[in-house]
Amino acid sequence: MTTTQGTTTYRGSCRCGAIRFEADLDLSRGTSQCNCSYCSKSGWWGILARPDDFRLLAGADEIVRLGSSPAAERPRCRICGIEAFGHGDVPEIGGEYYAINVRCLDGVDLEGVPVKYLDGKHDTWAELAVVLYTDPFVGAGAPGAKPAWKP
Ligand SMILES: [Zn+2]
Repeated sequence: MTTTQGTTTYRGSCRCGAIRFEADLDLSRGTSQCNCSYCSKSGWWGILARPDDFRLLAGADEIVRLGSSPAAERPRCRICGIEAFGHGDVPEIGGEYYAINVRCLDGVDLEGVPVKYLDGKHDTWAELAVVLYTDPFVGAGAPGAKPAWKP
């Protein structure tokens, strides 16, 4: 496990880089994946941040909001389509929040990060499992590595 405990300021961005942000996060406290229709179909892997811990650095004019509600805004980059973060307001989880797309954090080592699997599908948000993330891409492309899969 290489995950550092404590809050660190991370940078993140969409694929094309038009949208850039930074967020103060403690990845060791856990990230989440959920089985609701949105998260499962989009492959969302997120971590919550308080409003004070999120700063949009660039791209405010490039954001489009698709399928959004006040409880869960889904801002996407209008150029590359990536949802680098979400934003919403749900009293049950403490009010206004940002949800960072963990996959959009730049240059971060996610090995050992706890991933909580939540039951959003049945609206219970029960924690079904916690798994420490193992990055299968580490070492991919290293000299001597042979491709295991071909189309
Ligand atoms: Zn983009």
